[in-house]
Amino acid sequence: MEVYGLIGNPVGHSLSPPMHEAAFDAVDMDARYVTFEPATDGLGDAIAGAVALGIQGLNVTTPFKEAVLEYVDPTEMTAAIGAVNTIDFSNRGPPTGLNTDAIGAKRALATTAVNLDSATAVVVGAGGAGRAIAWMLADTGATVRIANRTTSKAADVATAVGGNGYGLEELPAILEDADILVNATTVGMESDESPVPTSALHGGLTVLDAVYTPQETRLLRDAASVGATTVTGATMLLYQAVAAFETWTGEDAPVTAMETALHDRL
Ligand code: NAP
Repeated sequence: MEVYGLIGNPVGHSLSPPMHEAAFDAVDMDARYVTFEPATDGLGDAIAGAVALGIQGLNVTTPFKEAVLEYVDPTEMTAAIGAVNTIDFSNRGPPTGLNTDAIGAKRALATTAVNLDSATAVVVGAGGAGRAIAWMLADTGATVRIANRTTSKAADVATAVGGNGYGLEELPAILEDADILVNATTVGMESDESPVPTSALHGGLTVLDAVYTPQETRLLRDAASVGATTVTGATMLLYQAVAAFETWTGEDAPVTAMETALHDRL
């Protein structure tokens, strides 16, 4: 039996186990997906233990996404983003650290008609998700503007991944000619709030909200009300799991089974 899993602290509410268990069932794989909660100072031991035990793959969540870089061989993308959410142990050398949040956001946006390589994109948020999404958009050829409550962090991300940094008060101006808006802040999670004033939204936007609880956030409702195209955080979450499955197994993921399992739990 193969073992995959998630390390984080806490991991109790993660939606990764149902998605990956559904994927293993759908393709008839003899595998289990297990959650692990190492102590915050026990990350190195946890990774060494995973190698020793022959664990095939791990997802990584808060608070380990950045710290785990010390224990893995990052891909070029992961090194630029500075955060890992997936580890592949299959090469039997140093485990490889990947960031499937970036890939998940790209595949979620690809479910719409928006043309990423010629787009002007505004990413709100400069934490782990914002950094990953901004890097992906810049790498794809989009012009990227990063807006954040703490403006200095927006400037840091802009320097690291490409683009320009702004404060939140500049959102109306920088959204005027934008094609894509991504919310990568925690605003709207379990609350009916949006980080972007409705008056700054317009029908030419494709809006991805990384927040997935609730699925229909205030931002996505406001965006739909002005005729914008909307993409849910659940779609991004699904595709980051799909990308992890495909990295670990080398096979196409059973997307429908994973999507059903996710929506059953949301
Ligand atoms: P993080 O590293 O903690 O970053 C949080 C971000 O939110 C920072 O930019 C922070 O701004 C901003 N923020 C927090 N409170 C705010 C407020 N009241 N007003 C304005 N900005 C505020 O978090 P993360 O890991 O990047 O995650 C961000 C969101 O993305 C979360 O909701 C997470 O669930 C979601 N996410 C979704 C997926 C998916 O697959 N759908 C994957 C990863 C993450 P400051 O820098 O000023 O503090």
